[in-house]
Amino acid sequence: MPTIAEVLTVTERLWPASGAESWDAPGLVTGDPAATVTRVLLTVDAVSGTINEAVDGAFDLVLAHHPLLLRGVTSVAEDRYKGALVARLIRAGCGLLTAHTNADVVPDGVSDVLASRLGLVDAGPIVPGTDSGSGLGRVGRLREPTTLGDLARALADLLPPTATGVRVGGDYARPITTIALCGGAGDAFLGESAVRAADVYITSDLRHHPASEALEQSLVAGGPALIDISHWAAEWLWLDVAAEQLRSALSDVEFVVSDLRTDPWDFVVVQ
Ligand SMILES: [Zn+2]
Repeated sequence: MPTIAEVLTVTERLWPASGAESWDAPGLVTGDPAATVTRVLLTVDAVSGTINEAVDGAFDLVLAHHPLLLRGVTSVAEDRYKGALVARLIRAGCGLLTAHTNADVVPDGVSDVLASRLGLVDAGPIVPGTDSGSGLGRVGRLREPTTLGDLARALADLLPPTATGVRVGGDYARPITTIALCGGAGDAFLGESAVRAADVYITSDLRHHPASEALEQSLVAGGPALIDISHWAAEWLWLDVAAEQLRSALSDVEFVVSDLRTDPWDFVVVQ
């Protein structure tokens, strides 16, 4: 059976740490690199539900997209939730590994998977990275034009269900051919030329002011409609592709994608 260190060699090849944003903290969070690995649980978030699933299911390693420890900590006391999660993992002998922005930028990364699930062709990054084909976000076009409403419906069918569903800013019947998208929180790219030139921009966590200002700008100078999807749902799609890549590199190890919904919203009241 491979060790955590051998799993890290594979993850570094798939998602090189050099591709991570400067503020990010991907890599091994808990676990002994010399420990052997037979079962790995893939999840977007290392939260109580998924950590319990890993420990109760006798997994040796959790691969999470979001870092549990992103900023400096001075305590892992167990009366705070991160300390409690870290302690639970260590006591259970379960490692925690994260692949975050380094998994966003690569071909077959988080945004790339969403682009290919939507059937985009000629897709390239919104913000190109150092390697060809890599970079943040994706922009591409549909083979056949659709409408904004039908695209939103297709997204709703494609993504795992969440309470907040798919929110749209723009006319239902607007023709759509060119799509820009960013899995995760992508409001930083609202002003990018590749986004402004698209018919629609799909991302998550759009707040009132950035969304309102982008749509107002579209009224005066042309620009994209907006579709806001669940951050968790957008990134969860990537886990199946990541698991398949890991399976082909480490055939002795079982890779399981957690079905637990770690989107924070449980219900909405529609007026
Ligand atoms: Zn994210």
